[in-house]
Amino acid sequence: MAGLHDTGSPCHLLGTPACPIHELPREPNARLEPLETQNKTLIQAHAALETSLRAPRESEENARLILRAAPVATLVMNRHGRITQANAHAEQMFGYPGGNMAGLAIEDLIPERFRAAHRDYRGNTERPPQHRIMGMAGEDFYGLRADGGEFPVEVGLSPLQLGDERVVVVSINDITERKRAEEDLRITAIAFESQAGMIVTNADGIIVRVNQSFTRLTGYAAAEAIGQTPALLRSGRHDNGFYQRMWAAIRDKGFWQGEIWNRRRNGKIYAEWLTITAVAKPGGEITHYVGTFSDITQNSEAEAEIHRLAYYDPLTQLPNRRLLHDRLAQALACGCRSRRHGAVLFLDLDNFKTLNDTRGHAVGDQLLTEVARRLQTTLREGDTVSRPDDTVSRLGGDEFVLILEDLSESAEEAAVQARHIGEKLRHALALPYDLANREFHCTASFGITLFHGHDDSIESLLKQADLALYQAKNAGRNTLRFFDPAMQAALDERSALEADLRRALKRRQLRLCYQPQLDSRRRIIGAEALLRWEHPQRGSIAPDVFIPLAEETGLILPIGHWVLQTACAQLKTWSGKATTRDLHLAVNVSARQFRQPGFVAEVEALLDDYDIDPSRLKIELTESLVIDNVADTITRMQALKAIGISFSMDDFGTGFSSLSYLKRLPLDQLKIDRSFVRDLAHDPNDAAIVQTIITMGRTLGLNVIAEGVESEAQLEFLAGHGCHAYQGYLFSRPVPVKEFERLLEPA
Ligand code: C2E
Ligand code: MG
Ligand code: MG
Repeated sequence: MAGLHDTGSPCHLLGTPACPIHELPREPNARLEPLETQNKTLIQAHAALETSLRAPRESEENARLILRAAPVATLVMNRHGRITQANAHAEQMFGYPGGNMAGLAIEDLIPERFRAAHRDYRGNTERPPQHRIMGMAGEDFYGLRADGGEFPVEVGLSPLQLGDERVVVVSINDITERKRAEEDLRITAIAFESQAGMIVTNADGIIVRVNQSFTRLTGYAAAEAIGQTPALLRSGRHDNGFYQRMWAAIRDKGFWQGEIWNRRRNGKIYAEWLTITAVAKPGGEITHYVGTFSDITQNSEAEAEIHRLAYYDPLTQLPNRRLLHDRLAQALACGCRSRRHGAVLFLDLDNFKTLNDTRGHAVGDQLLTEVARRLQTTLREGDTVSRPDDTVSRLGGDEFVLILEDLSESAEEAAVQARHIGEKLRHALALPYDLANREFHCTASFGITLFHGHDDSIESLLKQADLALYQAKNAGRNTLRFFDPAMQAALDERSALEADLRRALKRRQLRLCYQPQLDSRRRIIGAEALLRWEHPQRGSIAPDVFIPLAEETGLILPIGHWVLQTACAQLKTWSGKATTRDLHLAVNVSARQFRQPGFVAEVEALLDDYDIDPSRLKIELTESLVIDNVADTITRMQALKAIGISFSMDDFGTGFSSLSYLKRLPLDQLKIDRSFVRDLAHDPNDAAIVQTIITMGRTLGLNVIAEGVESEAQLEFLAGHGCHAYQGYLFSRPVPVKEFERLLEPA
């Protein structure tokens, strides 16, 4: 029964339209009024028609005239569904001017899709003819124009018995306009319930409507606000002049816009961005005021700025530590859902401090900005592994952290992927920098740890990555290191060791061992003092284990001082005996100790105190120490050299071994690293290196000593190539002083 309704009398034409009109302002809506009038006219015309059609036959002509003149589109249809009469309105509405509608089937005026159902309905003789309306609320019913166009209609049907003929009077109302109005009302109603707070007052400023956002933003329920004036929200922060200016603008321009402080129901004052618009009738008379506002403490630019400051690093614009934590938490949650691995990369520039110290902070900042840019662009290069939104953040200083997500489900593959990205970044950062028109080279070290969902906490991940970074630094910088549990265990042990080391000096657990150094005729010409830590529980601890720790914690300063002092005391003792008077004593000095401001004075003071011949003391420095700051090293070395102290370059061959700086250093000796000596017999490469070092020493006029000599074969090779001195287990291990002195006694 498509499109048809049993609705009773035609007065239902006034029925409620489909839109939620109760949602709209209570005042009668101006746009609806003409429609209602239209409907009334329709009913009246209908009644008149019925009366005229029931009239005696002689007034048939009158009836026809009345029908034609009726202000409503009207048709008369016989029981076969044929149109017998149509008035001018109907002809115009359906596009059949000139009276050619009679004879058409009523279905010709209905779009195809309604026809079958309509025909069935009409043919159903069971149903007694009655008044009905088609196209009422909710049910769409359409008319079909001669040109094929459709238009929404409301149709009134009135059955009528004319003598022995039963006809139906059909009146049609084109409701296109009404539909549009309904649509508008529906849109308005939805728009009214937007995110912005809305308030509608009448012309007297009495609140007549508010929306739900109003309630959400101010805390006042609709029932509490309606009937009041907006003064309800006044914060007391604006004087009367403010409100006067506001109303003057509304009067003049029809609207006002600005920031206003209001008070919520709970007493809290807040800033809102308010727009007030006057609603006027066509004649200009104002009927309502509509206010729209948003809480700008929530979405203002000021807030965006606060957010930026709170979550981004002002120098590089990268996320800061706080945002990193948020992102990491998200990444952990995502990883948990997807089962994929992620990685945290911790990176630190290798020589940032030098740049900052020598060229100033502005240049340092430039470098950091460029590093940030390179990290981001490298990640964005559309790699198959990295993603454009992988987070790069700056923790401060020259420390950056990257979160890589969506790596493989397999830990091994994920590690390979993370290493791949890490290597790419490492290469990108190692390219030269142009800073204030000067080229600068900078490398970075990376610590990497993998994560897999919630198994890991943010803190422990960052710690792991940091630890791995530390390993990377230890491994010589400009490199990548992964965290693994063994690393963690090493850290724990390190902490325990550090605590013990702090007490070692006081508890007299440190002592020096002496390893003889011999000349080409196998005569002991001196010794290297090597530190030992006699730990009450762990036994003797090798310096390789605790010297780096002492360096890092600064404990190397008191320890190094103790070593020098003990060495000087020993030289003093030796100076009193003919067998030991001519011995040299070599002492290892580490970078931090050598670089401390008072180092030269400290050595001078010790030499004075013990009153010893400075030429008996030899200082061993490593290549990396020298390289770090060549100019400062030279100054210090020269100062010490002037007193009479000599220098040996320890572990020679493992570092840069560059002739250019070697020539500038006031050195006395090169010490071939034991790693080259060890493999002399098997590794032709090492043999070549050793030969080169000896030649280099000769060229520079330096004495050459080989350490780690364990076999006669090694000794033979070294001697054959012109090495001057030797040290190694072949002659003696490092031993306590008494034992060393016994070595000096003739066999
Ligand atoms: P180094 O200065 O290169 O010392 C030589 C190391 O080689 C010593 O290890 C020594 O025991 C070892 N050695 C000597 N001959 C042989 C050999 O024939 N075969 C093998 N395999 N090894 C041999 P040690 O005593 O464990 O010292 C290790 C490092 O610790 C030293 O390397 C030095 O860099 C550092 N160190 C030792 N004492 C001190 C100190 O008082 N101050 C500072 N700053 N560092 C020290
Ligand atoms: Mg040494
Ligand atoms: Mg060495």
